[in-house]
Amino acid sequence: MTRHFALLSVSACATLLTACGGSSGTTQAPQGDSAAQPRARYGAVDGQRILTQDGSDWLSTGRTYDEQRFSPLKSIDTTNVGQLGLAWFADFDTRRGQESTPIEVDGVVYVTTAWSKVYAYSAKTGRQLWGYDPKVPGEWAVNACCDVVNRGVAVWDGKVYVGTIDARLIALDAGTGKVAWTVNVGEDSKPFSITGAPRVVKGKVLIGIAGNEYEQRGYLSAYDAATGKLDWRAYFVPGDPSKGFENHAMEAAARTWGGTWWKNGGGGAPWDAITYDPQTDLVLVGTGNGAPWALRDPDPSHDNLYTASIVALRLSDGQYAWHYQTTPHEDFDYDSTQQIILADLAIDGVKRHVAMQANKNGLFYVLDASTGQLISAKAFVPGVNWTRGVDMKTGRPVINPASRYDETHKGFIASPGPFGAHNWHPMSFDPDTGLVYIPASVTDFGFVAIKGDDNPMGQKWNVSMTGGGALYAREHRQPLNKGVLVAWDPAHGKQAWAIPMGDSRTGGTLTTAGGLLFTGDNEHKDFAAYSATDGKQLWRSPAQTAVVAGPISYRVDGQQYVAVVAGGNATPDGNPNYYAPNYSRLLVYKLGGTATLPPPVPAPVQVLNPPPAFGTRTQLTHGAQLYDRFCGTCHGAEGQSHGMFPDLRYSGALQNADAFQTIVLKGALSQNGMVSFKSALSPADAEDIRAYITARAIWSKSHKDTATAVVH
Ligand code: CA
Repeated sequence: MTRHFALLSVSACATLLTACGGSSGTTQAPQGDSAAQPRARYGAVDGQRILTQDGSDWLSTGRTYDEQRFSPLKSIDTTNVGQLGLAWFADFDTRRGQESTPIEVDGVVYVTTAWSKVYAYSAKTGRQLWGYDPKVPGEWAVNACCDVVNRGVAVWDGKVYVGTIDARLIALDAGTGKVAWTVNVGEDSKPFSITGAPRVVKGKVLIGIAGNEYEQRGYLSAYDAATGKLDWRAYFVPGDPSKGFENHAMEAAARTWGGTWWKNGGGGAPWDAITYDPQTDLVLVGTGNGAPWALRDPDPSHDNLYTASIVALRLSDGQYAWHYQTTPHEDFDYDSTQQIILADLAIDGVKRHVAMQANKNGLFYVLDASTGQLISAKAFVPGVNWTRGVDMKTGRPVINPASRYDETHKGFIASPGPFGAHNWHPMSFDPDTGLVYIPASVTDFGFVAIKGDDNPMGQKWNVSMTGGGALYAREHRQPLNKGVLVAWDPAHGKQAWAIPMGDSRTGGTLTTAGGLLFTGDNEHKDFAAYSATDGKQLWRSPAQTAVVAGPISYRVDGQQYVAVVAGGNATPDGNPNYYAPNYSRLLVYKLGGTATLPPPVPAPVQVLNPPPAFGTRTQLTHGAQLYDRFCGTCHGAEGQSHGMFPDLRYSGALQNADAFQTIVLKGALSQNGMVSFKSALSPADAEDIRAYITARAIWSKSHKDTATAVVH
């Protein structure tokens, strides 16, 4: 059951965090750096440079606009990769989730960390040039579904752009880290957040929004890169019809919705994929799941556009060009936000300009990039059961009727689960092999719909977070949670090869012209290189933790480097551990590199020390119900966390009703993300929860059930 929970990876509502607040990180004056190449200007990136560069730099999050994450550099290749060693590393100050892809421009690496902080380093030596902390209020963590992560910056014309977890877009001077301008991207009182990397095209900063589970209406915005003035905003689900529609696309979409969807926002937030196509001048955007997950629309024939879709917008004005919906009437948290790669492929002897996505829903899509016409849709992991495949005549998935759990009222173990067969972890396309390298997962999740998810705080799903356990119990098995690195042949719609990654989470991939595939070997807590041709492992180096972010490669003074962000809450098995040591770092490698990481620190051992049992049976039952509703999403089912939040069985606050209520009702730890639950819980409720957790701790102590104390 706990596993069932950890699988979700959607936790991060309010939590009893006792450490890792947003902190430190000061802006320093530029120190200059003799190691970095002298230059007239920092951050000198423009569209022409992105389109024509030779691979010496990594100028945009996917390196180029096509987002292939392929480096043409080949000094490091299959014959010498064994000599790869650590050139330098930079420690990060928090073990909260680290998902950033660095950018490298003219000898400077720009990288983000958890809490939306930005750092600039000499790409050659690792010397820090500046750091910037947007000072996100810690309590905003309650508004982020999946931790206070950030996936990177954009650099353009002397500025560095970062979206923050509290939904600001900030432009920094690339040379000093000083703020040039700031705008609020969130447009009303809803709890918006930003986790994705901006892209800049023709002087427009494109930025999405995150938080489908918080009653939002998803949109993408374009800002003037120089001034921060809003250029256009494109919505992905229609608003309240009585207020009129912004455009024909919204009017058309409204015909695919029923009930009063706008009151719950509808979802569709584009929280990661943004791909600009210079050939068509279109921006391809991946949109999020429908919200809430279940019981969103009374009519199952409604598609709920444009949730769970790839939508093409005109760069000039943000107007709709075409869409392809990957999961109509989406019920499984199958965001369609995974990276969209552009490429020219020979398919059936014809050269096609295509857009490719390995979707959360388990299918690999190849679309005509100009029109959105479906070319192929094939399962890239085993066990996909929500659909029986895609009808190529209509382009629509054939739905497994049993998967409609909000109509059958029977519940359904869906594969993939909400984590997806592929999530935000970047994939790469190697034009030499013609293969796409997908950090994939084989997962499932027991969906049970519940009416009226009236939790006044945090996320709303209309899905029971504990009800799925009975479905697994009936099948006498645990939920699936396996990692697999898949090399996919998109031109032929089939797998070339795959590497099982055990119970580990797979990491982002980079391929290079040296015939190499770089990614985390998370079973071994290593960063590794494989042959891009056949998947044979050729090199690995200790990272001391999981590597889930996307690697990059660049060249300075004739030397090729490979850089990747490691750590965060990403423990190797994909179940983050609050008590794990912090190994969050930027790791940078070169041939003959001799730097070494400090030795791993001893893992702290947690000791169960609960107060004597208290509370009536009625209180304990009530406390258990409240715990599941308000605490379990973050702190773990049945009072037992294996996640990125404290295991409350070990909390010192159990000793004392006042101390417990100071945190739970008065928000004493709100700076760390554990906000006050005063609007949802009474003092008597809090005491019942304390009684329940205390009972759980006593039981665990007597049964020596101290799983959380085992630290990765
Ligand atoms: Ca989602």
